[in-house]
Amino acid sequence: MARYTGPNCKMCRREGCKLYLKGERCTNGKCAFDHRSTAPGQHGAARKKVGEYGKQLREKQKARRYYGVLEGQFKHYYEMAEKMDGITGQNLLGLLERRLDNVVFRMGMAASRKEARQLVLHAHFTLNGKKVTIPSLLIKAGDVIAVKETSKESAKIKALIEGLATVATPKWLELDAKEAVAKVVALPQRDDIDFEFEEQLIVELYSK
Ligand code: SF4
Repeated sequence: MARYTGPNCKMCRREGCKLYLKGERCTNGKCAFDHRSTAPGQHGAARKKVGEYGKQLREKQKARRYYGVLEGQFKHYYEMAEKMDGITGQNLLGLLERRLDNVVFRMGMAASRKEARQLVLHAHFTLNGKKVTIPSLLIKAGDVIAVKETSKESAKIKALIEGLATVATPKWLELDAKEAVAKVVALPQRDDIDFEFEEQLIVELYSK
């Protein structure tokens, strides 16, 4: 019987691609997008001509939803990216990738960025030896992210740490799976991001 699977899956259908927002469910054959990929709503299946603005808007929404960032925060990252040296679109993705919740997800301690965000909010991690609870914090090269010693006693965290042995981390993160410690050996670059974005469209949207 069909059942409502929540707004996360609607976001994937709206963006026309899998955003991997629900962890295991996204890859275990229960993915809503795999069963129905049309946009949500009564006229979702109707073919619509999408103009330039529509494409730019969708690309921005896709990136925003993929990283779980609110509109205002996203604009803030864009403004930061614009002021940095280099290509604005690539800078923007680099900033999003450097968020602590994303790093926790990339190190394999969570099945989704949403779960990573919760773990950070619940103070299960340290950054360079100090307790940290801010998911949006931007990591720097040389930073060390670790599971807090007292958190290792929790059954849930223990199970997550056991799972680290099979995790493939990006090359900018060096993971000690046994100790549940990840070191940022370099800042993430555009080609480290394993998801299709047309970041130039986002730049065009904000440049209007
Ligand atoms: Fe839902 Fe994940 Fe599939 Fe997206 S990828 S539709 S969040 S199950």
